[in-house]
Amino acid sequence: MTYVIAQPCVDLKDKACIDECPVDCIYEGERSLYIHPDECVDCGACEPACPVEAIYYEDDLPEEWSQYYNANVEFFDEIGSPGGAAKLGNTGKDHPFIAGLPPQNN
Ligand code: SF4
Ligand code: SF4
Repeated sequence: MTYVIAQPCVDLKDKACIDECPVDCIYEGERSLYIHPDECVDCGACEPACPVEAIYYEDDLPEEWSQYYNANVEFFDEIGSPGGAAKLGNTGKDHPFIAGLPPQNN
């Protein structure tokens, strides 16, 4: 199981969550952040830190945002499991679903 970042993060990237993650598994894309499904230890620390409630436990992800589960998981198809987001910094990439979204007015 894992936590998932959904629509409110897109084009906002407040990044408050990053400082809370004990295993540095919240990775930065061009328009959103993504939680690594295999590196996340389900601690829940990031969820209350997000000012726009973008982070959900996968079972609690609102139905309207169900595609964000695949977006978070598949984002790492190319990246693999680096074992830490800080050293990568902004990957400059997004999952195609995120990349194709219209500009978000946050
Ligand atoms: S705190 Fe929320 S909006 Fe900010 S980067 Fe994390 S998930 Fe995105
Ligand atoms: S639930 Fe914990 S381990 Fe998973 S992304 Fe959030 S802070 Fe990191």
